[in-house]
Amino acid sequence: MPGNKNIIVALVGNPNSGKSTIFNSLTGENQHVGNYPGVTVEKRESTRKYNDYNITFIDLPGTYSLSAYSSDETVTKDFLIYQKPDIIINVIDTSNIERNLYLFSQITELSSSIIIILNMIDILKSKGKDIDENKMENLLGVPVFATIASKNISTINILSTIVTTFENNKIKKQPRAKVDYTDVIKEELDKIDSLIPKTLEFSMFAKYWVSLKLLENDTQILKLIENLKDRDKILQQLQKSIKHIKGHFNQSPCSIIVNIRYGFANSIVKTILKNTTRNKIDITEVIDTFVLNKYLAIPIFALVMYMIFKFTFTFSGPLVNIFDIFFKWFENLIANILPAGELKSLIVDGIIGGVGSLLKFFPLVLFMFFAIAFFEDSGYMARAAFVMDKIMNRFGLSGKSFLPLMLSTNGCAVPGILATRTLDSNKDRLITMFVVPFMICGAKLPVFALIIGVFFPRKYQTPTMFMMYILSIIIALTIAKILNNTISSTEASHLVIELPPYHIPALKGLLLKMWERGLLYVKKAGTVILFISILIWAAFTYPKAPIINSNLRVMKTPLQIDYSLAGRVGSLLEPIFKPIGMDKNRAIALMSGFAAKEVIVSTLGTIYSIEENDQHKSLKDKIKNDSSWSSLKGITFLIFCLIYMPCIASVIVFFKETNYNYKWLLGMVLGNTLLAWICSFIIFQIGNFLKIGII
Ligand code: GDP
Ligand code: MG
Repeated sequence: MPGNKNIIVALVGNPNSGKSTIFNSLTGENQHVGNYPGVTVEKRESTRKYNDYNITFIDLPGTYSLSAYSSDETVTKDFLIYQKPDIIINVIDTSNIERNLYLFSQITELSSSIIIILNMIDILKSKGKDIDENKMENLLGVPVFATIASKNISTINILSTIVTTFENNKIKKQPRAKVDYTDVIKEELDKIDSLIPKTLEFSMFAKYWVSLKLLENDTQILKLIENLKDRDKILQQLQKSIKHIKGHFNQSPCSIIVNIRYGFANSIVKTILKNTTRNKIDITEVIDTFVLNKYLAIPIFALVMYMIFKFTFTFSGPLVNIFDIFFKWFENLIANILPAGELKSLIVDGIIGGVGSLLKFFPLVLFMFFAIAFFEDSGYMARAAFVMDKIMNRFGLSGKSFLPLMLSTNGCAVPGILATRTLDSNKDRLITMFVVPFMICGAKLPVFALIIGVFFPRKYQTPTMFMMYILSIIIALTIAKILNNTISSTEASHLVIELPPYHIPALKGLLLKMWERGLLYVKKAGTVILFISILIWAAFTYPKAPIINSNLRVMKTPLQIDYSLAGRVGSLLEPIFKPIGMDKNRAIALMSGFAAKEVIVSTLGTIYSIEENDQHKSLKDKIKNDSSWSSLKGITFLIFCLIYMPCIASVIVFFKETNYNYKWLLGMVLGNTLLAWICSFIIFQIGNFLKIGII
């Protein structure tokens, strides 16, 4: 409309602070609002008329900082620096105000036309606290609104403030509150700043903005500088300044800048936050004083992990036995109905033997998922990531790497690898992706449960399983450390994890999560594993050996195994597996594990049901009675399983996520298998030499 003025307003804030809810109220739209982070992935926009203005609102993805490295955070950062909205509405979740003001500290450096919406006031009040918004307005020099967006907001007041801010902004001014980067850093900023041409893009932002970003190692800005004529001079000065600051503070400029910004946020909080009810105890704070305590954090973490396993094995044990009995009964039933021949062999040995040996672990998987969901929903898992950050840093990973590793543990490496997308630096991401498959995923679990069940007395089973988990973590961290020392990178990352308040999880939610994840496991058994079970059965059945004794069932002669395709490949590979205490059958089982780890169990199941006529014995008993195994061989087998190449699904996803990097692919497939062989070799040979567990 002629004469109308356009105003672009961007909504910026931490994930889950209520941006989309406010966007909907301001624009009158009813978009999907979610209560989990990451609902707004791309930006959304909507325009409305107000008096003589066309106001366009843009709902940006949530971000914790503008030093964004991760892809969804970049959308927000790029929008703010390239599109330069007329007004930024900073939505602040007041129940987590300090973290939210950290983002504000960076926004003040980009624009002076900011409006603050203090949201979630209801949650803040329920904690016995309140905010003095007038004080905040005076302190920061920007308009402040306190809202409960999920109820309603004073849309008209906000719209008119947008217009006045827009009109006032024509007289350029800086916001009143600014981050003070200390004299030492300011001096260096001055030196860098003097070399940067004033015509450079972005130099219209706050004084020092470009120089500050350079100190922060911002790759985008560094690229910009690299295109300049004077780049060598600037980069030289930058190196000098970084060195000087490091020398002075004994910390990298990145971390100091982060600390100073937090200090800024903290000082605002101290001024504006009031305690209304003095004696109200914040349960979350009380629990966190223990859970995040310097000395207690790690023991509590270990205890929680142990509880998950104890719970799983104690309660699932009887059910797994019932399932086992059921599948044996079912196998017999079918075996008695069907006439002898190939079809019977396919169904009994191939399908029920293969899929059944996996399905019986379904209760175990369900209990495990339930326990994990419990700690996830209660709010502990976020603390676990926080607690692990310091340890992870030592291995060149970030606390955020813990989540992908956790997802893979008892779950699946594939979602684990995909979850690394939330990591900030490429190097962290690559390393994390590489070590995620070392975790004991839900598919390795039945393999371990089987072998441990055979070779360890009942009371040692849980501790042994627990030790395997610890071992998997040690291996992953060691490999991460080695990779960290070999890959060079200039990126620095800082952990920002939301610590939600604790609450008692709703049973319905837990059961739902358990069921969804459990169903995935069954689906895998019903599709991929079924298919592979049939393939493996065929590999053992064809080509056929000539019938020598017609009284024997063709499929079950030892001759048939040697004659079959699988037997031939196994024989071919036997010399490689011999030094690590494995025979042809185990070599075949391990090879089949490339398809999916749980297939190892079903392959052993198929091999033993083809080899032995006794349908009444469980696979566990069959292995127990097989003199070609020993407990040392069992342990070597476990170690090999733990380390060698991941399943094809993980490998494919990893390859894709590394942008089809062949070197990393080979490292994962061949490197890990070689490493597994070396570790197994050492253990087996030492065990043999010391005569440990060789019976
Ligand atoms: P966004 O990620 O910043 O876009 O946040 P959303 O607008 O999706 O809101 C996240 C969740 O917080 C939703 O479940 C909202 O209903 C809820 N929410 C928004 N504002 C408030 C508020 O002021 N108080 C409370 N208790 N909940 C709110
Ligand atoms: Mg949103």
